[in-house]
Amino acid sequence: MTLRLDGKVAVITGGSSGIGEATAQMFVEQGAQVILGDIQEDLGESVAERLGEGATFALCDVTQEDQVAELIGEAIAINGRLDVMMNNAGIVGARGPIDEIELDQFQKTFDVLVSGTFLGIKHAAKKMKQQEGGSIINLASTAGVNGGFGPHAYAAAKHAIVGLTKNSAAELCRYGVRVNCIAPSGVVTPLAAQAHLGDFQALDKIRDTLAQNSPLKGRAGTAEDVANAALFLASDESGYTNGHCLTVDAGFTTGSKATEPAHTTSVPFMREAGKTGLTDT
Ligand code: NAP
Repeated sequence: MTLRLDGKVAVITGGSSGIGEATAQMFVEQGAQVILGDIQEDLGESVAERLGEGATFALCDVTQEDQVAELIGEAIAINGRLDVMMNNAGIVGARGPIDEIELDQFQKTFDVLVSGTFLGIKHAAKKMKQQEGGSIINLASTAGVNGGFGPHAYAAAKHAIVGLTKNSAAELCRYGVRVNCIAPSGVVTPLAAQAHLGDFQALDKIRDTLAQNSPLKGRAGTAEDVANAALFLASDESGYTNGHCLTVDAGFTTGSKATEPAHTTSVPFMREAGKTGLTDT
């Protein structure tokens, strides 16, 4: 059986937990060598140990340029290439009404989500341009696609990530480098539990909450759902996909809802004498 990422080298930031951890596992299972970068050191070390020879952990705060450059350097040291860069590290960040958010909290949110993603793209691009190929995957969110899906700073930062994805894709395409992003709605991870329930450990409860609100009845989104999207974007199967924002949201952003849509329950539009306007009867 051919593995989908056979021989590829990938960096995943925020790889100690949630989506990053699930993606690392899937990448390793598909033949990649993965370097996990995260600020959670003990957790990251244990994830890498669990994943075995295919994974290593390196402490990395994505807001620090020297640490991001070093993380990518470690990946390149493996066999002189960097095939996949996944800019995934994230926080919920500043919350609350727009007229009460402190500037430094707003900026801190942007530091992690936007500057962290920018630094990952920047240092990956240096190598990928030179080797004329590579796949960069950024974590956006449905909060970066529609309004009203997340806290203000988070939503603004995720919109910025979608923009940065499209713009860097437009520049890097001529070097054979693809840049795409993934926009999940709520999926079962510590971040979602923290965001919705204020408790990052409440994974069972967030699973129930997300399942109840899911357009796909009773099915919560999972880190593995997002990892599957990342696997496609990392692999050569997505070789002609560039500048794309791939929603993994059960259709939330395209009108799918947990409750019955109004047009399926309301009386059909009548033209005259009871005709629907679609048939003569
Ligand atoms: P997660 O389980 O909390 O994992 C994120 C990891 O990133 C954590 O280990 C976190 O450490 C780490 N991190 C935070 N700041 C960092 C920094 N400055 N440098 C390096 N690592 C840092 O969250 P997740 O749900 O998997 O989220 C992954 C990405 O998906 C994020 O960008 C998030 O915005 C996005 N996303 C998630 C959802 C969802 O519902 N889960 C939906 C849409 C988009 P700490 O825990 O110590 O902060």
